[in-house]
Amino acid sequence: MSALGDQIKLTLAKGGTITVERFMELALADPQYGYYMTRDPFGTEGDFTTAPEISQMFGELIGLWAAEVWTSMGRPNPVRVIELGPGRGTLMSDALRAARVVPEFRAALDVTLIETSPPLAQIQYDALLTAGAPIAWRGSFAEAPDGPAIILANEFLDALPVKQFERRGGQWRERVVRLNGAGELVFGVADKPQPFLNAEADEGSVIEVSAAAHRFMFELAARLAKQGGAALFLDYGHAVTGFGDTLQALRAHISVGPLTEPGECDLTAHVDFAAMARSARAAGAAVHGPIDQGDFLRALGVDVRARALGERSPERAGEIEAARRRLVGKGDNEMGALFKAMAVANRAVPAPPGFQPNPAKPA
Ligand code: SAH
Repeated sequence: MSALGDQIKLTLAKGGTITVERFMELALADPQYGYYMTRDPFGTEGDFTTAPEISQMFGELIGLWAAEVWTSMGRPNPVRVIELGPGRGTLMSDALRAARVVPEFRAALDVTLIETSPPLAQIQYDALLTAGAPIAWRGSFAEAPDGPAIILANEFLDALPVKQFERRGGQWRERVVRLNGAGELVFGVADKPQPFLNAEADEGSVIEVSAAAHRFMFELAARLAKQGGAALFLDYGHAVTGFGDTLQALRAHISVGPLTEPGECDLTAHVDFAAMARSARAAGAAVHGPIDQGDFLRALGVDVRARALGERSPERAGEIEAARRRLVGKGDNEMGALFKAMAVANRAVPAPPGFQPNPAKPA
């Protein structure tokens, strides 16, 4: 068991419980042992690989997306470019390089990276040292500078803790973590039912709600409604709210039990995009999408970009095509349909690139 696992067991030794939400929060963000606080989790050597780490095309297309959104916002100067959970800084590095084709945008932007992890902030600093843009780091979104903004978030919302509720004996009870007789961490449910949940469902059904994601989305949408701008979210999740336990732990690219080694494996839950859209609209912003990541990247021109890169470096053409397929393909082990793209924007901003109705396609 991990150090954090031992610590959690100690606190539960007298028969107590902690909610799944609290468990996830500790596993990811405990200041001493939290997963993101202690390591670089990405790449083939790490626990999982994200889209910007698969191909430079991903960040480049998002950089061009940002430049177009800036133009449609009326070219504000300065414009805040804010990234949430920037990982290794790869997306921002590729985006800033691609945005050089719009020099006025490059000249107007300043970048704020929102990161809670000290080791990842250091890696981002090194990756962006020569990016040629003013960059500042902040620990929370509330600390980002005011003004019209373009906000980017890839695989950020899935790292925010979720509450789970389980249907037991015709009632909903919050899911918790406790110790079993053998001293192992196991799932259970709270003694008291939830008085405010009354949806009918089969025994054992699970509902997930991320209060942290709702709070965050409300704050972000209210800011965009008041100060202008647009945000782009890419994440794995579902477009329609439904039942299901999506808590998932990954270690060295292999799925492991979510309770086995807290702090040593990545722990995520699928993003409920419909729920996020409701919060964003309630706070006064417009929502575009969600659509499949594959359709989004195709609309931004990933196929053309892949061909151009392949022609420029024929020795890498196979690798580039494989990366393109992994990003847009809709089969198993491909990200094109599993991942969704959704934009949240000030109502005055036109539908951003990728979210515009396709004139070639009948409605
Ligand atoms: N966007 C990157 C990394 C995704 S992993 C990529 O696509 O490669 C999630 C990122 O969010 C990590 O950088 C992690 O440290 C950060 N993170 C997790 N919880 C956070 C929080 N509450 N506030 C800010 N950043 C957070």
